[in-house]
Amino acid sequence: MACVFCKIAAGEIPAKVVQADDAVMAFHDIAPRAPIHVLVIPRKHIASVADSADGDRDLMGRMMQTARQVAEQLGIAERGYRLIVNVREHGGQEVPHLHLHVLGGKALGPMLARAT
Ligand code: AMP
Repeated sequence: MACVFCKIAAGEIPAKVVQADDAVMAFHDIAPRAPIHVLVIPRKHIASVADSADGDRDLMGRMMQTARQVAEQLGIAERGYRLIVNVREHGGQEVPHLHLHVLGGKALGPMLARAT
């Protein structure tokens, strides 16, 4: 098993876990880009949204609900936060195991620079 997030899910690599259940885990990003930067992953290996199946619908819904709970738990829900999912190469995805970034703790500003 080479996948770093599978290893975190299996407890083989340490992580600062915020929340975990039988299907989903949330842990602090190792290189935070905001005062709060948490990653939400499915325990099951899904490489990206582009690799997910119709049968993953409930699991992906649970990831979103976990993000909401993490934001409440870490005190960023009221003022707001940003959820990001990078997909494959052009999306800037570096770790090929589906994950949801939860970013907050400050005003993050406009999301996108001009594409041109
Ligand atoms: P992405 O570019 O969307 O694939 O994001 C991958 C994220 O995983 C980056 O923000 C990394 O800082 C983070 N990351 C990589 N390895 C670890 C790790 N062992 N523990 C926590 N976060 C990690």
